[in-house]
Amino acid sequence: VRKFFVGGNWKCNGTAEEVKKIVTVLNEAEVPSEDVEFGIVILFEPHVTACNPSCDLGSLNLMHRLLFFFGSEVVVSPPFVFLPMVKGLLRPDFQVAAQNCWVRRGGAFTGEISAEMLLNVGIPWVILGHSERRSLLNESNEFVGDKVAYALSLGLKVIACIGETLQQRESGSTMAVVAAQTKAIAAKVSYWDNVVLAYEPVWAIGTGKVATPVQAQEVHLELRKWLHDNVGAEVAVSTRIIYGGSVTGANCKELAGQPDVDGFLVGGASLKPEFIDIIKSAT
Ligand code: 13P
Repeated sequence: VRKFFVGGNWKCNGTAEEVKKIVTVLNEAEVPSEDVEFGIVILFEPHVTACNPSCDLGSLNLMHRLLFFFGSEVVVSPPFVFLPMVKGLLRPDFQVAAQNCWVRRGGAFTGEISAEMLLNVGIPWVILGHSERRSLLNESNEFVGDKVAYALSLGLKVIACIGETLQQRESGSTMAVVAAQTKAIAAKVSYWDNVVLAYEPVWAIGTGKVATPVQAQEVHLELRKWLHDNVGAEVAVSTRIIYGGSVTGANCKELAGQPDVDGFLVGGASLKPEFIDIIKSAT
C-alpha cells in the first residue's frame, strides 16, 4: 500500500519563534482522518492478496494507488537544533525528520550528527542525498548509498533524494542520472520498506519552475520500472516515489493526480500555510 506522503523540508530556515508558529499552523490544520484509511485498507486488501503473483506492474500499481486516497503521511524536517523542540510540540499524527546524518557510527567527526543520536532523541526519519548536499558538499552517489544503508540498518526511515540538473535533462541523460543515483542506493540496501524515493529535479528546486505533471509522471514511472527490473516487483509497487521542486498549493493537485506520484517533498511552500493544501492534495 502506497500511502500518500508529504514531507516538508525546512532547510536552513527559521528562528525558534518562527518554527513554533509553523508548528502551530500545522497543529491546528484539519486533515483527513487516519481511521478512514484503515477501513478502506481492510476493504481492499483481499483483492491485493488474491492477485496472481504474475500480475503485471500496471494492475498491481493500480491496486496500490486505490488505497492511498485517504489521509497522508506527513513528515516535517526542521534544522537539527530545532528537532527536539518540534518533536515535542508537533501533533502526534505528524512526524519529524532530520535533514542529514553521518555516514557511519559517530566519533571524531566535528560538526556531524550521527544516526544513533537521531534515534536517541526519538527522530524516526532522515532526508539523505538532497541535491544541495550533493552539489554544495560534494556528496557522491556512493557516499549517499552508504548513508542510506547505515541509517536504515539502525532503524531510521529514509527519504532518499535523486534528480538531474538542467544540463543533464537537456542533454537527454535524465534517466541515466537518476538510475545511477538509485543504483548506488540499491547496491547497499536490501530492505526497502523504510525508504521513500524523492525525485527532485535540480532545475525545479527553489526556482519556481515546477516539473509538469507529464514530466514528473514520466520519470516516476521509469524509476518504478527500474526498481522492478533491478530490485524486485514487490519493491517496485510498494515504494513511494514522491516529487519535489517548486511544489505549491496551486500546482500540487494536478501533480498528485499522476498515477506514479505518491506525494511530495516540499521546500519553500512547507514554511507557509499553503503546506496544508499540499497535505490535502491526495484526497
Ligand atoms: P522547493 O519546494 O523550495 O523548490 O524545494 C524543494 C526541495 O528541495 C525539497 O527538498
